[in-house]
Amino acid sequence: GDAGVPGRVRVAVRLRPRNGEEMIADADFADCVELQPEVKRLKLRKNNWDTDTFEFDEVLTEYASQKRVYEVVAKPVVEGVLDGYNGTIMAYGQTGTGKTYTLGQLGEEDVADRGIMVRAMEDILAQVSLETDSISVSYLQLYMETVQDLLDPANDNIAIVEDPKSGDVSLPGATLVEIRDQHSFLELLQLGEAHRFAANTKLNTESSRSHAILMVHVRRSLKTESNGNSHMTKSLKPPVVRKGKLVVVDLAGSERISKSGSEGHTLEEAKSINLSLSALGKCINALAENSSHVPFRDSKLTRLLRDSFGGTARTSLVITIGPSPRHRGETTSTIMFGQRAM
Ligand code: ADP
Ligand code: MG
Repeated sequence: GDAGVPGRVRVAVRLRPRNGEEMIADADFADCVELQPEVKRLKLRKNNWDTDTFEFDEVLTEYASQKRVYEVVAKPVVEGVLDGYNGTIMAYGQTGTGKTYTLGQLGEEDVADRGIMVRAMEDILAQVSLETDSISVSYLQLYMETVQDLLDPANDNIAIVEDPKSGDVSLPGATLVEIRDQHSFLELLQLGEAHRFAANTKLNTESSRSHAILMVHVRRSLKTESNGNSHMTKSLKPPVVRKGKLVVVDLAGSERISKSGSEGHTLEEAKSINLSLSALGKCINALAENSSHVPFRDSKLTRLLRDSFGGTARTSLVITIGPSPRHRGETTSTIMFGQRAM
């Protein structure tokens, strides 16, 4: 999709650097991909002789900084939200490829490591005026088609409500916390993470099996500009209210059922993940093809995103991949997911 054009999905691919184990165990093997960021191309090695070439809106190598990733993936969406348009930023990829690093890294040790959520809030706080504007946040987990409140563990089955007229999506049962500074936002993310860990321990599952969803509501009261005609009417005009919603989605790991085991609990989880990720894929494809029917109703994930996805909303997808030739199969399927969005 085109940069910053509403209604289309902007797709970036990000390669994670080799980890220690991969540097040792796979030392004799080349990465399964080769990136050409200046021409926004990715080459996927099929074997020693053949490569497939893919183009993306943005190609982020293992050397891309968190700052640069924020600027290409998130900034246009955040600017839209400040202008009163909804927007979505999602990370899709196999577990261990950097979705949470890209979106949720807090950067407690080094601010340079901060991910998209923290940088987005920093940008929003810098551009609003808290005397007239407000920022409020919800933090949720979507597990097995159930929406859970990460800010209030007792709230473990939240209803998604769609306004039939406006198409607006709301979660009246979700905790909404007003944010006044970066410090309280970081604390809130940490609290959410702790609740997520506790909830998943209780459910005997892992965070890679659920989607984490941050919603940031920005409400701005902007003074109307003078049009030079009448000073009297200008002073009587009420301020213009602009509301934008930013949704950041750290998606469940995209690895297939075959790898997640095939019994009981795990199979049910895998089916539920497949349901929501394939529903998401279908909505993304429908947008890419300019189809008049986008099948939002097929899963809770897509129902949640309905008002922040396509239409006037700005949508950004970052697909995360690892370099290891051992994961070529998963890497290929992640790349195909990203390609279908364009
Ligand atoms: P996922 O959320 O997709 O399962 P993580 O974000 O947890 O993956 O990343 C797995 C590991 O790799 C973490 O230890 C993370 O810090 C590290 N990592 C991921 N991406 C990068 C990157 N671009 N640079 C440095 N380390 C990274
Ligand atoms: Mg993760």
